Amino acid sequence: MNPRIGILGGGQLARMMALAGYPLGFEFVFFDPAADSCAGQVGELMAAEYHNELALEEFCQKVDIVTIDFENVPVDTLRYVQKKKPVFPSPEVLEIAQDRLLEKEFCHTCGIPTTEFATINSLSELKFAAKKFKHDAILKTRRMGYDGKGQYRITQAADINQIPESLLQQDLILEQRVPFNREVSVMVARNGLGEITHWPLCENKHKEGILTTTIVPAKHSELDEITAEYAKQLAVALNYVGVLVIEFFQTETGVYVNEMAPRVHNSGHWTIEGAATSQFENHLRAGLNLPLGSTQMKGMAAMLNWIGAFPDNILSITEQDLFWHVYGKEPRPGRKIGHSTLLAATPQELHDKIVDLVKKLGVQL
Ligand code: AMP
Repeated sequence: MNPRIGILGGGQLARMMALAGYPLGFEFVFFDPAADSCAGQVGELMAAEYHNELALEEFCQKVDIVTIDFENVPVDTLRYVQKKKPVFPSPEVLEIAQDRLLEKEFCHTCGIPTTEFATINSLSELKFAAKKFKHDAILKTRRMGYDGKGQYRITQAADINQIPESLLQQDLILEQRVPFNREVSVMVARNGLGEITHWPLCENKHKEGILTTTIVPAKHSELDEITAEYAKQLAVALNYVGVLVIEFFQTETGVYVNEMAPRVHNSGHWTIEGAATSQFENHLRAGLNLPLGSTQMKGMAAMLNWIGAFPDNILSITEQDLFWHVYGKEPRPGRKIGHSTLLAATPQELHDKIVDLVKKLGVQL
């Protein structure tokens, strides 16, 4: 019998998981509150609220195993589902990964460095911590933040008076701003039997908190070993099953964890064409306790995100080793609606291909 995989969250990650799973004979059912979720274009979508137990019950009856495409699926939903069907990653992992404070504390219990931070429970704590960080800090909500959402930059004492009341009423963490040289991420996959593997280090660029480009392998990847070691240490300590992504800041003094994503990740989209096995396939293999596929790269890769809108003439541009991914989402400002991957044999060739593509599209990265 083909395994039927249920995915909580029906966005582009769920869609790409299904597209990776169909050639292996897997079947998919998606569950998302939004009836127009783009995964619904490639498989059965149940549109219901995450707390709708009747709908969850029906969803569980349709599938053999359940995973997520979105780390903010309520932990209670995952707990409810876990009573009926195996889930990966576990609700315990989700609880940690949903909370910037628990996430950082967990890293520290593993001896892994993170950005400097302070828990904020009052305005006076905020003022005290902001002073300690020399008013060069970022206030973040502990939960429900992603792509820079729920964040407020502090550059001087007076900024604190401008913070919206709605933000101050939430559970908060203040992070020292890290003067990073670059941002890198590493993806590991671990199955329930403890087999673990990783892909080469990715170098990421963000604009307004949203990932715009990923280049792999990261230049001068002397950090490859230590970042993979940290990510594997975390995966083992969490008894993690699936793909886990750890984002780091690299500074003059080393690497510091920014956050973890308990799921497949935007910085791993290049693996679809650029690695022997994609993050999506290995996530599914991990959950089904199948042997993990090779993470060997096929040369160098660049992933360009399309956010808010596509350039006009995308599909008329064809190049060897250029791949378009259009998620089928309604374009909206700040919304990820697709990506392109370029593969090349050398860093220079990759650079030239990016410059050429950007010129042909008439866009700026
Ligand atoms: P996050 O949602 O925490 O990943 O933040 C989104 C982006 O904001 C990151 O990828 C960084 O570019 C930037 N950022 C977040 N936290 C910090 C920090 N503590 N220091 C410097 N930049 C940060």
